[in-house]
This record gives sequence, C-alpha cells and structure tokens, in this order.
Amino acid sequence: GLQQRPPHVVLLASPGAGHLIPLAELARRLVERHGFAATLVTYTDLFDPRLLQCIPASVSTVALPAFHIDVPADGPVGEMLRELVRRSLPELRSLLRSMSMPPLAAFVPDFFCAAALPVAAEMGVPGYVFFPGSLSWIALMRHIVELHDDVALASAGEYRDVAEPLELPGPLSLRRADLPESCRDCSAPSYQRSMEWGRLFRDAGGLLVNIFSEMEPAALEAFEAAAKRGAFPPVFPVGPSIRSSPDKVADSKESPCLDWLDRQPTGSVVYVSFGSGGALSVEQTVELAAGLEASGQRFLWIVRLPRLEGRHPFAFGNGHGHGHEDPLAWLPEGFLERTKGRGLAVAAWAPQVRVLSHPATAAFVSHCGWNSTLESARSGVPVVALPLCADQMMNALLLEGNLGVALRPRGGGGCVVGRDEIAAALNEIMEGEKGSVVKRRARDLQKAATDAWSPEGSSSRALDEVVAKWMAALAPTDKIGPK
Ligand code: UDP
Repeated sequence: GLQQRPPHVVLLASPGAGHLIPLAELARRLVERHGFAATLVTYTDLFDPRLLQCIPASVSTVALPAFHIDVPADGPVGEMLRELVRRSLPELRSLLRSMSMPPLAAFVPDFFCAAALPVAAEMGVPGYVFFPGSLSWIALMRHIVELHDDVALASAGEYRDVAEPLELPGPLSLRRADLPESCRDCSAPSYQRSMEWGRLFRDAGGLLVNIFSEMEPAALEAFEAAAKRGAFPPVFPVGPSIRSSPDKVADSKESPCLDWLDRQPTGSVVYVSFGSGGALSVEQTVELAAGLEASGQRFLWIVRLPRLEGRHPFAFGNGHGHGHEDPLAWLPEGFLERTKGRGLAVAAWAPQVRVLSHPATAAFVSHCGWNSTLESARSGVPVVALPLCADQMMNALLLEGNLGVALRPRGGGGCVVGRDEIAAALNEIMEGEKGSVVKRRARDLQKAATDAWSPEGSSSRALDEVVAKWMAALAPTDKIGPK
C-alpha cells in the first residue's frame, strides 16, 4: 500500500553552487543512509542549468516556475531572494500539498529561503533550515538580534553597533573589519536586514549546519546550552556536505586542470581560486599575479573577471557569466609567458574537489568561502587566506587562529594584499617552519572531517538524531519505511 513508500523530505534550494551542492548532498544522505525519498525544489530562472546536473541521481528535482519580482537585479542578492521566496509561497504550498503522499516527514529550506518556513508550520511538518556557512556566522546574527531586542526594550526602534571587538564563542574575536559588511554599521539598511534574516531562525524546528563538530566545538557547546534553555532552535552539525558526484560543469568544458596537475610533482602546486563569483579588484589581481610570479612556486590559478564598478559581484553558479570577455586579458603584461611551465592560469570552471584531493596540490590560496573551507579541510590542504567579503574574514580567522590550518598575509577584508606579503606567505606555506605546522594541522583536521561521517562519527549521529525527531513527529501509520 501507499503507506509502505518511504516518507518524503522536501528541500528548497537557493541559487548558487555554494548553496545548491551541499544541500543536494544532504538530500542524498537522507535517501541513501536513511531511506527517505527526497525532492530538491529549485527556482528555475536563477540556476545555471549545468549546475542542476550535479544533483545526485537518487534525489528528485522540481523546478518552480519563473516569477516576476520587483526588485532591482543589481540590488542586494538577499533582498532579491526574499522577494522571490515570498512570491513563490502559493506555488510552494500547493507543491508540498501534492507531495503529502507518501507522507511528508520534513521541509528543509536553505537559509536564504528560510522565509518559506511558515509553509511547513501550516502543514504541520517539521521545518528545518539548512545553513551553508559557519556556526559563528549564525552566532553573529543571533547576537545582533539579541542586542537590538535588549535595546528595544528601553527605547523602541533603536539599533546599536556591536561592540568592538565582538567576542564570540570559539573564541573568536572580531574587529569591525572582520565583520560582514552588512553587520558593521547599525544605521545602514543592510544591518536591519541582517537582523531580519537572523529572526527567521526562530521559526525553525532545528538548524542543519554544514560543519563538523571539531571545526567549531565551542560555538556548538554555546548553542547546545541555548537550545536547552529554549533560547534558540537546536543546532545539528551535519557536515562536511561536499560534492561527491562528478563535476559535469567542469567535465563538459574539458577542464585542463587535472591533466596539468597529473604532470606536476607530488605536493608541489599552489591552487588559487576564489569561489564561484571570485572577483578580485583590478589591483588585487595585479598584486596576486606579481606575488605568484615572485614566489617561484608552481600554481594553478582559476582566474575570473575582476570586480568593476557597476557590475554585479555575484555570478549565479557558473562564475563566468559576464558575456564573452576574457578574464586572462586582465593579467599583467607578459605574466603568462614568464610563468609558463610552472604556472597554469585558466578562466574555466575548475573541478575543485578533485583538484584539492590531487596529489600534486600542496596549498590553497582561497577567499575562504565556507564550501572552499570545508573542501580544503576534507582534503587536508592548508590555506593561504585572502578573504574578500561577507563571512570570509570570520572564516579566515577561524582557520588561522582557532584551527591553525591557514596563514594569512597582512591586508585583506577590503584592503589590497601586496605582492611581497603574498609571495612570503606562499613560500612559508610551501617550505617554511610555520608551513610545516599548518600542514600537520591540516592533516589532523582532514582526519576529523572524514571521521565525522563514519558510522559512529559526530555528523552521522547528529543526522540520526534529526531523523529520529522527524520520524517521531509522523503519524503512527506513516512510520513504515525508512531504516
Ligand atoms: N567551485 C568549483 N570550481 C570553480 C569555482 C568554485 O568547483 O572553478 C566550487 C567550489 O568547489 C565550492 C563552490 O564552488 O564548492 C564555491 O563555494 P564557496 O562557498 O567556497 O564560495 P562562494 O562561491 O559561495 O563564494
């Protein structure tokens, strides 16, 4: 009968490789490890169609129709997403209704779609938010919300800047420059929006966070205590959730990266990449090129068009969406010729997970986007941190200070990091004493990342606990099915 079919989990993805891929991986685990049926819902018009090919075969997909939204396309991405989610609620509602047989066990929107949570409440199913970043970032948003709500008690509608430095569990001590831009100035509209985002967590039955416990143990403890007091939804570390399927975006463009790496000596190459958007300023591009050249190290550099005035900094998914301009044309005159043989600069999408786990790859110059951070951890590759914006400065601090797996040249977070600092950091990580310490730590973190998903590992147990809660919430007749 119908009841015998496994219960269904519906996940809602926000655009961008860094959000879609980890959510799809989580869905795959729910299917393959826990026997659920899983459907990943996406917003048609915002995805690079090639990105959808990375969804594991065991996960079904449904695309919502295109919506017209009245938000300027070059405005804050978060606003656009909120508006999109708001517009799509009626469709989502009927979609979820049509999916209630087999029974719906849970609805899991990505954080950037968390405004869809009330739909879960209406249907009486658990609504859990998937968070694709660090727990410290959640801690920051929570802090801002609580700070305002305290102040608001005294004087309505007033906002307060976070203290400098802001001390978060970790310990993580954040100066103003380490904060995401949206959290720096309480008089900016973006600060109020951050707070509204932070409030969305309150509607969640729980948070599924793409971390593993060794990454942020103190933050996890603090959130456990908060959940016990009922001050915040329970937090479950269910990472690292990293691409496991072949990277069809890279393969379809016959990526030259892996062929080239195959020809390099073991442990000799610095991989340089700044995520799916990855736009450096023009100046930073020049300094990075000069630093790579001066260091004399071998490198594989995934080059994107620099960030220019009036251009949208966020390329959804494909990372090379700005027409037909050639990013390599922005490199300094003669750079490619002078580094020929020891350096490869490519403008294509890289199969990053495979690059990081390639034996030739020794270090990663990274913007410290959270997915890149997890991928470097899982591959045991130490990082030279060049954070650019948003949560990346916090992530860099975590990697450098708390985990000891990164070196951070001076500058960054809005300032240009100079060529000499870059060259020195590259040489230190490849050959220096500090370099050998961070390498060792990176291998320890790799072991922790792998162990987290062993059958008794921390992430496996956290996901088991979530599944048990979802199953307990199902009606008794619906419970036949999953393991
Ligand atoms: N990525 C990739 N090839 C590229 C650039 C990025 O596979 O050429 C992947 C990378 O492995 C990671 C994601 O895209 O999974 C980028 O996410 P991250 O959080 O690091 O940065 P964001 O793109 O969100 O800034």
